[in-house]
Amino acid sequence: MTSACSFELEHYRELLESARAGGYRFATFDGAPAAGDVILRHDVDLALDAAVRMAELEAETGAVATYFLMTRSVFYNLASAEGERAVARLRELGHRVGHHAVYPHIDLDRRFDEVIAWHNPDPDFMREPLIGAVNVMAEPWFSPDHYRSDSNRHWRSGCPHEALRRADFEWLQLLTHPEIWVYPGESMRETMEAMLDAERARDLERLAEDRIDLS
Ligand SMILES: [Zn+2]
Ligand SMILES: [Zn+2]
Repeated sequence: MTSACSFELEHYRELLESARAGGYRFATFDGAPAAGDVILRHDVDLALDAAVRMAELEAETGAVATYFLMTRSVFYNLASAEGERAVARLRELGHRVGHHAVYPHIDLDRRFDEVIAWHNPDPDFMREPLIGAVNVMAEPWFSPDHYRSDSNRHWRSGCPHEALRRADFEWLQLLTHPEIWVYPGESMRETMEAMLDAERARDLERLAEDRIDLS
């Protein structure tokens, strides 16, 4: 089923439907995971617009997710008007907003729920509990049997849609990166090229808004 398990929004929708068919409910990091929970986690590394598109699809299907946004990204600025609009939109759609932190900096402020996912963490601090905030990779929110991730378009144990449909997981934290699903391509390289093409078009609009003469 390789062709069916593409990294496209259409298949992401099928993942959500599979979770429903398996009898799961969509949960957040508010409490410890319970049997039957699927916690949808999105680390937003590169593009806020991709996060918003995925969030709209989830809202359409009645799913709630937690979006982890960066304050120290080199790719987007959460403090810009665009950044503020993205946070507001995610909230409006009923999703949670957590902090995608760059170690050792934690910039938890009122924009975020008290939940943190480290960006590109090293093993030595990745699972350390935090004071005053949930670390999504610490117990009880993380355990290897209850975790799947799409990192770099690669599922280490295969796409989980069939396992969800069969209700194989007691509960699951499902980490997906919106950019991978929103932008087309057959490889990470192609997907990133598509994202950069879209970003160039947005940069031209940003230049015009910044009153740069593009004539
Ligand atoms: Zn699949
Ligand atoms: Zn990250």
